[in-house]
Amino acid sequence: MSSIGHNSLIERDSAVLWHPYAAAPAPLPPYPVKSACGTRLTLHDGRRLIDGMSSWWAVIHGYNHPFLNAAIKEQLEDMAHVMFGGLTHEPAILLAEKLLAIAPPGLGRVFFSDSGSVAVEVAIKMALQYWISLGKPLKKRLLTIRHGYHGDTFATMSVCDPVNGMHHLFSDLLMPQVFARAPQIPFAGVWDESEMDELKELLAIHHQELAAIILEPIVQGAGGMRFYHPQYLSRVRALCDEYDLLLIADEVATGFGRTGELFACNHAQVTPDILCLGKALTGGYLSFAATLCKSFVCEVISQNEPGILMHGPTFMANPLACAVSLASIKLLEDSFWQESVGAIAGWLESGLAPCRELPAVREVRVLGAIGVVETREPVDVARVQARVVARGVWLRPFAHLCYTMPPFVCTAEEVGQICAALYAALV
Ligand SMILES: *Cc1c(COP(=O)(O)O)cnc(C)c1O
Repeated sequence: MSSIGHNSLIERDSAVLWHPYAAAPAPLPPYPVKSACGTRLTLHDGRRLIDGMSSWWAVIHGYNHPFLNAAIKEQLEDMAHVMFGGLTHEPAILLAEKLLAIAPPGLGRVFFSDSGSVAVEVAIKMALQYWISLGKPLKKRLLTIRHGYHGDTFATMSVCDPVNGMHHLFSDLLMPQVFARAPQIPFAGVWDESEMDELKELLAIHHQELAAIILEPIVQGAGGMRFYHPQYLSRVRALCDEYDLLLIADEVATGFGRTGELFACNHAQVTPDILCLGKALTGGYLSFAATLCKSFVCEVISQNEPGILMHGPTFMANPLACAVSLASIKLLEDSFWQESVGAIAGWLESGLAPCRELPAVREVRVLGAIGVVETREPVDVARVQARVVARGVWLRPFAHLCYTMPPFVCTAEEVGQICAALYAALV
């Protein structure tokens, strides 16, 4: 492919498209991708890059995977889509059964939707309606922790970190939620019960107006790439029980092995009342998500006025998405994913360790197949990106964070190359 094609694509993109979290046209031009296979993206000008981002946590098995491709093609021969109102199909039933079988124990029902944000919207709607159904409509606020990220729609924005999420822009429109300090004790730190003091105070003050606590278990993703102590999650579960609040766990980013456990809740052996899944659910093939809940949540909503959950995306339970999700979970189960993720954690630890010596670096942290280099000053994204691309690696830093969550199929050499590129970009 000639470089003229490459450059004209960038020009035409800049004339008509709007990219995520960006002005349009974007000051930093995007890189045109021609194809992707395994761990690699191939750009239009022929350069090949290891995808250190797994396309935002999603592509856990790598691109263009023969088994996932086959699952989609096979399903395509039967039907690409059919409405889910009044109809059902085998892929949806099999996937719901599978998710309930592998999710933290005690969940009993699955609601499918088309993206992580919508899965969280549905979770919030379930939690609010649960209390309306029980005759307690004043329980309509949510408590969450700072540095969270739950999506970009309005209800989810209201529980994103108020600073990162630019709440001031929409202050009149966002539901006013209750924010607790983000957990401070790191994943492998020494537990200290005073970590819970502020949250307990907030609960004592607000519990009567609260419907639920919503958080990302163990790993806070796009709101700061922070890893916190499993005991925090256990204590939140206990406090929800004590104050009779629902617990919503947003595992859109952490689900399907990324943190070293199949679900991050497993680090603390906690089952939330409502669980959100997305991103890696389809192995990164299609936009798809699920909201799982305990049976009692569904029963309370279904058995009281008005007796229905008023939500139903047009493409709910899309058969192609269900089929590829089933195939992705099968690939995961048939692989030694826990060994792979553990090995990647070790390679990230050793590969990123030299970054600790750099004056620009505040902290390096690794959990499962997630490696984070936090810098003292905001990252010069254009500079870092150009430098890692020159070394054959794709990364997308933001704010003070350079981070990688490579596909689980990356080799030691590939993870080493990602880490070396990141180091070289920060020197
Ligand atoms: C990405 C993400 C979402 C939103 O998912 P979309 O598919 O982008 O709508 C919600 N919660 C968490 C934790 C996420 O990482």
